[in-house]
Amino acid sequence: MKQTVTLIVPCYNEEASLPIFYKAVCDVARELEGYDISLLLINDGSKDGTLNVMKQLAAQDSRVHYISFSRNFGKEAAMYAGFCNARGDYVAVIDADMQDPPSLLPQMLRILKEEEYDSVATRRVTRDGEPPIRSWFARMFYRIINTISEADIVDGARDFRLMRREMVEAIVAMSEYNRFSKGIFGWIGFKTKWLPYKNVERVAGETKWSFWGLFKYSIDGIVNFSQAPLSIASLTGLVFTLIAFFMILFIIVRKILFGDPVAGWASTICVILFIGGIQLLCMGIIGQYLAKTYLEVKKRPHYIVAQSSDEDVVRVK
Ligand code: UDP
Ligand code: MG
Repeated sequence: MKQTVTLIVPCYNEEASLPIFYKAVCDVARELEGYDISLLLINDGSKDGTLNVMKQLAAQDSRVHYISFSRNFGKEAAMYAGFCNARGDYVAVIDADMQDPPSLLPQMLRILKEEEYDSVATRRVTRDGEPPIRSWFARMFYRIINTISEADIVDGARDFRLMRREMVEAIVAMSEYNRFSKGIFGWIGFKTKWLPYKNVERVAGETKWSFWGLFKYSIDGIVNFSQAPLSIASLTGLVFTLIAFFMILFIIVRKILFGDPVAGWASTICVILFIGGIQLLCMGIIGQYLAKTYLEVKKRPHYIVAQSSDEDVVRVK
């Protein structure tokens, strides 16, 4: 029997890219005769005609399946819905905008089949077409998160990867509400081979990431996979307590030896403001973790399905 491959495709306002992507996948599928390829398109609450495109594709091709959310839940939720519903022996996540070239799939499948790997992931080695300031922040982010967490994230890593069934089950079991897939892929382990490729610009439509969106996403990544900011906050508190202790000793001794000349108002205010600032910063850091915990304990679903091509999908999870 042929082995099956499910391609999970998160789509948000991709009506222009989706037909181009579908054609490219069909071309690749023709090359891969030994496998049954199917597409699992996830409509993440698109505001354009993406759902209609999906319905048309599903009507004309039985390999195309779709799931449509009740609103926009974000790419992380779309990928999770894909993992929860993908049935293939091999499963891949791939963007609809052609930035993850489907032409890499045959090579990725060959690696999983012939070599001892559980997943093949891709990383882009160039960042052409991206503002330099954004690339700089991205590089800083990878450096920081790899120093302070055990998530092990490769610089330039894309979400585009092909994996075995075993790995998919591990990802589905990671049911945390605050999802950061790059961290999750690294955290669960498994042997991964990295395929470098040159950055490709999207064929149509536009990116959904603003600079602030990416900035917030990177803070989420750090908070989700590292307790280092909390340790830094405690350490700062400890250092300041020690400094304050010696300052108090110094002031008492000075008072006893030299009396109490009234001076140092300005420096006192500076110290109070400084310590106040550090305290607020540390409370802010604690607040970040608390906010995540709050969302986590509420156990709200990651996604809600409004329509789908198949009956037996996991509708709410
Ligand atoms: N996407 C999604 N939900 C969102 C935002 C994006 O499903 O809320 C999808 C989008 O349709 C695309 C993929 O995630 O297939 C990557 O998005 P984008 O191309 O905007 O990100 P970039 O490639 O610039 O990192
Ligand atoms: Mg893209």
